[in-house]
Amino acid sequence: MPRLHQSRKRILVTGGAGFLGSHLIDRLIAQGHEVICADNLYTGAKRNIEHLHANPRFEFLRHDVCNPLKLEVDEIFNLACPASPVHYQHNPVLTTKTSVLGALNMLGLARRLRCRIFQASTSEVYGDPEVHPQREDYWGHVNPVGVRACYDEGKRCAETLFFDYHRQHGVDIKVARIFNTYGPRMHRMDGRVVSNFITQALRGDDLTIYGDGTQTRSFCYSDDLVEGILRLMDSSSQVTGPVNLGNPDEFTVLSLAEQVLKLTGARVRIRHLPLPEDDPRQRRPDISLARSTFGWEPAIDLAEGLSRTIAYFRNAS
Ligand code: NAD
Ligand code: UDP
Ligand code: UDP
Repeated sequence: MPRLHQSRKRILVTGGAGFLGSHLIDRLIAQGHEVICADNLYTGAKRNIEHLHANPRFEFLRHDVCNPLKLEVDEIFNLACPASPVHYQHNPVLTTKTSVLGALNMLGLARRLRCRIFQASTSEVYGDPEVHPQREDYWGHVNPVGVRACYDEGKRCAETLFFDYHRQHGVDIKVARIFNTYGPRMHRMDGRVVSNFITQALRGDDLTIYGDGTQTRSFCYSDDLVEGILRLMDSSSQVTGPVNLGNPDEFTVLSLAEQVLKLTGARVRIRHLPLPEDDPRQRRPDISLARSTFGWEPAIDLAEGLSRTIAYFRNAS
């Protein structure tokens, strides 16, 4: 049943000033809910939520999820965590703390309030996968001591905490493994491939491809992803996840660069740089579980999503 027909809830969104969190809050506010956004603005930005400040159903709280939080809410979405490799590797100890202590504190809150809690997990729990496409029952191939481990293992430990709070304390959990998502409000300098390519093309700089560009990713547009999060959150309490959310269309990084060049009309070249350590070779979600459990699949293809994102970056510059 669409949420419009449910009673108004007070909902906590951690990481709500970030790219995905701010889109999620827009949807929750449009559905008539009250939203408390808790964010320490580490990678998020006030401009992502400034259009909400006049709304009496919106409240911003500058808060670090590594610290306990006492509030009264009906639901929690836990998204607080730097997400791009450049950002999460900047202070890796802080990244692990944010994932693990953030999950612990939000689970403690959900336990006390007996409320439902969503966790933004990631396809990174699969590491550099040996199984393709990735299904939820694949346990992954993660280097526990590499430069990506602060994020990958932090998110894996957060999943462990979610499932132990569920088994041990009966907390109502929803865990989504989110695959590469892009769209308006991505941080221009966050180093992720879509924002890098678009920014470079619009500036007239060469596009930087790491390695030979044959590695693959599957790119999901933000609106599709938020729809998936909401459907998962509204599913019955038997559905805990983990469930993959992402677009199953797979592209090489080189073909992404070619699409960005075509859509922007930029006359720039491609420059190859070294491949970062532990960069996964391939990534594509198997989304059968999301399809069969709550009827979700992405509706916006890469060309359409890129066009909308390019329009945003043009206007934002
Ligand atoms: P983002 O960096 O734009 O947003 C993260 C938000 O969390 C920011 O507003 C940041 O300030 C906040 N934050 C970071 N540390 C915090 C802390 N200690 N306390 C409070 N707030 C803190 O990234 P995003 O792409 O919007 O990602 C949101 C969530 O989704 C993250 O948990 C990320 O791991 C997950 N995710 C995103 C993707 C993707 O492709 N965008 C893929 C997989 C998982
Ligand atoms: N916690 C919180 N808000 C609450 C309840 C708990 O931030 O309303 C934190 C609490 O400080 C602790 C964590 O959540 O660090 C786990 O709490 P829980 O009660 O599950 O375990 P314990 O306090 O026994 O470690
Ligand atoms: N990448 C690239 N050029 C860039 C930024 C990233 O070729 O300017 C590559 C990166 O090496 C990886 C892919 O694009 O293979 C996706 O990188 P991103 O940082 O967006 O996400 P993740 O590696 O976490 O999937």
